Amino acid sequence: MTSALLEIAGLHAGYGSIRVLWGVDLAVRTGETAVLLGANGAGKTTLLKCLAGLLPARGGAIRWRGEDITRLPARVRVRRGLCHMSELGIFPDLTIAENLDLGALFVDRATARRRRAELYTLFPILAERRHAAAATLSGGQRKMLGIARALAAEPALLAMDEPSAGLSPKLVGTVIESLARCRAAGLALLIAEQNVRFLDLADTVFTLEGGRAAAALTPDAVRQDDRLRRAYFGMGM
Ligand code: ATP
Repeated sequence: MTSALLEIAGLHAGYGSIRVLWGVDLAVRTGETAVLLGANGAGKTTLLKCLAGLLPARGGAIRWRGEDITRLPARVRVRRGLCHMSELGIFPDLTIAENLDLGALFVDRATARRRRAELYTLFPILAERRHAAAATLSGGQRKMLGIARALAAEPALLAMDEPSAGLSPKLVGTVIESLARCRAAGLALLIAEQNVRFLDLADTVFTLEGGRAAAALTPDAVRQDDRLRRAYFGMGM
């Protein structure tokens, strides 16, 4: 069995007197895609912020390739290959090329140049529009830029907060296709989502309830579980 690339053990986090995470356990192996399901307010964003180093953990540990990174600053985690894409993920006033340059801020120049070329091949629309302001892109194209910006640092794992938010069903399909290509190239993904279509990408599924994550499930087990289907996706799947 491959050992975990990312391991979260007994993670506690919150804001002021509000406790959100009450001992979350979760693991993602190299090249694996994990989908994190949770109702509104369950703490998905909080978990991803802790992972990225944007919110301090109050207890527990985050391990990356076996190393304890719980107290490392965000930029050091990015350098280690652990990247995070928030719901926004881009700077609208900057050009597409500038957004990608910012994403590559913490990697060396040669890597940044090589990655930029790879990303323009992966997302041709971004190459065509590279000198335009990101604000002029459509919603779906902005999402692609957000993904590309996160990938500019050449991560081994990309954690994403609701990549489907605000997208039409067609554009959700485009984003899933792009992510499937990244996955095929060896990228591990941790995707917080409420959109059932992301189960198609998943190797494992974690559900976040009551501040804790349930043991890893297979996508099929989630699809076949009436309670989970009702809780996360309505009945329309
Ligand atoms: P959603 O799917 O609606 O984005 P989520 O699962 O990502 O929800 P979080 O954003 O992590 O949930 O929020 C978890 C809880 O923490 C919620 O009760 C929320 O109100 C609270 N919370 C989030 N951010 C803050 C903050 N900055 N200060 C205080 N409470 C917060």
